[in-house]
Amino acid sequence: MKILIVGAGIGGLTVARMAAVAGHEVVVAEKAPRVRADGAGILLDGAALTLLASAGFGLEGLGRPLTAMSITTSTAATRGAVRGRSSFAREELVAALARDAEAVAHVRVASPVRDVVDEGDRVRCTVAGRAMRADLVVGADGLLSTVRAAVDPVARVRESGQVCWRGIVEMDAGSAGTELWNGVERVGVVPLLGGRTYVYVVRSHPAPDEQLVERSALPAREREALSLLRRLPEDRLLRHELRELTRPSWGRGRILLLGDAAHALTPNLGLGAALAVGDAAVLAGALGDPSTLLRRYRGRRHSVVRATQLLSRKLGFLAHDQGAVARLVRAAAGLSGRPAVVTG
Ligand SMILES: Cc1cc2nc3c(=O)[nH]c(=O)nc-3n(C[C@H](O)[C@H](O)[C@H](O)COP(=O)(O)OP(=O)(O)OC[C@H]3O[C@@H](n4cnc5c(N)ncnc54)[C@H](O)[C@@H]3O)c2cc1C
Repeated sequence: MKILIVGAGIGGLTVARMAAVAGHEVVVAEKAPRVRADGAGILLDGAALTLLASAGFGLEGLGRPLTAMSITTSTAATRGAVRGRSSFAREELVAALARDAEAVAHVRVASPVRDVVDEGDRVRCTVAGRAMRADLVVGADGLLSTVRAAVDPVARVRESGQVCWRGIVEMDAGSAGTELWNGVERVGVVPLLGGRTYVYVVRSHPAPDEQLVERSALPAREREALSLLRRLPEDRLLRHELRELTRPSWGRGRILLLGDAAHALTPNLGLGAALAVGDAAVLAGALGDPSTLLRRYRGRRHSVVRATQLLSRKLGFLAHDQGAVARLVRAAAGLSGRPAVVTG
């Protein structure tokens, strides 16, 4: 089968290698002038790492296995933890995925895709201004997917109202990741390899010009991490509005969707990329009769993806909402803190 994959992000590169190794002719079209990763650090769960390893991606020496990723309070007490995750610098992770995808598939940069039309027995589209036909098109083109717009124009993007600042700083933060909740903000401190640390801060409804000032009393580790984050040069301190799709959208006919294009979720669980890897493995394993492919793919992914998307939304609500219910839950879990507002 000739497969066109739209987008060379984590999802597109993963499915490209998996489908090419399964014997298909794969072209990846990426609109950016080079394969790149916006974003600072990223956590991948054990299941995603196992799928990537079994597809032959060589990530050795890039990920830092964390002893735990814990939710902590303003007094640094732990209120829950997940294990089995590894942390990566995104740029290094995506470069490694691209290298291993390019070994078996054709990755074309500066190649925006548009005008995607299912003709029944083939899909027609325009790639970098030229017509192309493929047996299957996989839209792995992210939250604002052009491919999704062609097959599901009513899919809606929801603003969570939360904003995330993030970056990588020079700091040795040990071997465990933490995410502090204090009812005002969440501060993540995630050790990476090489004496570096991925730091993020999530706040709800900040003013459009709000700076990353210290807004609450923080334990020493978070205070140091935040202070280093604030001092990063402008181009290395990222600020993103957190958005999601209101519901998953899997495609139509010979045009399928994957990763954020199918089910962008808020990053509160840190599982969006892991879900994209899971989609890729299921889709590559299901390739075959195009008339039943979408049904088989959707059938194996929808429940787990939808449950994760809703849980992530709920977690964001519990962490940030200032209504009575969320405050009560946070107080019962000892996660409300008593933030003292500090300026400067
Ligand atoms: C603040 C934040 C923190 C996160 N942390 C984590 C985490 O710790 N762990 C985790 O698992 N997930 C995390 N996520 C989620 C994760 O980043 C995404 O789920 C993941 O990157 C999605 O990958 P993707 O390949 O589906 O899409 P993308 O990474 O968005 O890639 C889409 C690609 O398609 C290209 N493209 C777009 N349109 C076209 C077009 N028309 N033609 C050709 N190319 C096109 C784009 O240039 C891009 O390269 C986080 C997200 C955010 C916002």
